[in-house]
Amino acid sequence: IQNSMRLEFPSKSQNESFARVVVASFASQLDPTIEELADIKTAVSEAVTNAIIHGYDDNSGIVNIECNIIDNKIEIIIQDNGKGIGDIGTAMEPFYTSKPELERSGMGFTVMETFMDLLEVTSEDGVGTKIRMVK
Ligand code: ATP
Ligand code: MG
Repeated sequence: IQNSMRLEFPSKSQNESFARVVVASFASQLDPTIEELADIKTAVSEAVTNAIIHGYDDNSGIVNIECNIIDNKIEIIIQDNGKGIGDIGTAMEPFYTSKPELERSGMGFTVMETFMDLLEVTSEDGVGTKIRMVK
């Protein structure tokens, strides 16, 4: 690991843009293209929004982000200690959403998968969810 940082904040929706900008700022030491940086921002935004909206039913949860720079790549780990994902395979399918009433499109995981080089999802019911992405 050449460099690293950690970020912890309450699961409030106003922290989504904050988290996205902080990670992008940390990633900028890799000298990414504007497009690469936009991809990272979008993927972080999707993962953090999921932790806030799906992980917790109120605003009282904690979202953790860890970033590591390894071999000219950034590893981004976004974690919540919320309700967890029952069936990860189904959750990751394009257009699947458990909250259609909130006008979600069910494309968050598809976006993360498309914009990052690697996406790993681990989750346990009642324990929480961990998203690991590399680009
Ligand atoms: P969109 O991201 O397009 O607004 P969405 O959030 O429903 O819609 P995805 O981001 O692809 O779609 O997530 C799919 C489903 O996975 C969610 O509807 C939710 O049921 C589940 N999920 C995702 N992240 C979490 C999480 N951190 N905790 C609990 N469940 C989650
Ligand atoms: Mg989503």
